[in-house]
Amino acid sequence: MRALVTGGAGFIGSHLVDRLVDRGDEVIVVDNLSSGRLEFIQNHIDSGKVDFHNLDLKDIESIKGSFIGVEMVFHLAANADIRLGTRITDTDLKEGTIVTYNVLEAMRLAGVSKIAFSSSSVVYGEDAPMPTPEEHGPCLPISLYGASKQGGEGLIGAWVGTFGFQAWVFRFANIIGERGTHGVIFDFIHKLKKDPNRLEVLGNGLQEKSYMEVGDCVDAILFVIENTNEQMNLYNLGSNDTCSVRNIAAIVIRETGCAEATIEYTGGDRGWAGDIPKAMLSINRLVNLGFGVNYDSEEAVAHTARVLISEIMGE
Ligand code: NAD
Repeated sequence: MRALVTGGAGFIGSHLVDRLVDRGDEVIVVDNLSSGRLEFIQNHIDSGKVDFHNLDLKDIESIKGSFIGVEMVFHLAANADIRLGTRITDTDLKEGTIVTYNVLEAMRLAGVSKIAFSSSSVVYGEDAPMPTPEEHGPCLPISLYGASKQGGEGLIGAWVGTFGFQAWVFRFANIIGERGTHGVIFDFIHKLKKDPNRLEVLGNGLQEKSYMEVGDCVDAILFVIENTNEQMNLYNLGSNDTCSVRNIAAIVIRETGCAEATIEYTGGDRGWAGDIPKAMLSINRLVNLGFGVNYDSEEAVAHTARVLISEIMGE
């Protein structure tokens, strides 16, 4: 299959590219390297298995040609920094909602009708029941990032209903693992690298979320696509439990060997305005389809801490 991955040089995108190349797909990556890294996919570019297009998806004219002859688009490009919206209010609109419009429109013009989309658990907002099933609604996100994901889902639904597209929308929990370039574990390791005696934790540390290992995430994406065939397929991707920020801090301190570090909590029930302090997705739909998740949240955190420590401390 000829597949196009937007954001394919990013953390999750590059793992997806690995899987697509492994199964023999011809892969085009469209990425502007704003947070992605070419080194994540350089081996595939060198072997001729990935065609890399260094383009900004905000410019629809420049991206149209990339979609010609493609069978399926995996749309992962976005601003992945949820906190940014507290300071700059149009990033998620441009990098999320408008970019998703541009991708859909470039697909329509090129005659491509299958899309998989990386949405997020944050679309459910703050008062959703836990674990949150896909049927929950209304979805009322409380961050600008969450609003852009919901906007993206809405546009995809419109292209399905109006232009006969087929879509797979994945609402991710926190995805962590090798090549991670942001998020709580990444931040903690960087802070301890700078000062091994002190770890600042945003909020009171009682925030509690589900974590999914990135290999599980990309395997689940491909498994769901292979085993479903509705016009619109909606799946939560996560693990069966949660891990608290206090527990993550303890795991990172243990794995870095910074046993003397004192933890300083900034206080409050959440890391920043728009953060959702407690989140856990129901993954019954995924499990009932026959997919088994390899790592629970705590195992995923410990595994990620180990791989990121060797990546970051070696820099
Ligand atoms: P990432 O920042 O590593 O990946 C995003 C990629 O998109 C990067 O390679 C970046 O360079 C590229 N990109 C951004 N804007 C672009 C533009 N205008 N044109 C071209 N390329 C552009 O982040 P990630 O964690 O791998 O996230 C991938 C997707 O999954 C995102 O859509 C993110 O919102 C979603 N998601 C991630 C998580 C998580 O926990 N990591 C959770 C929920 C949803």
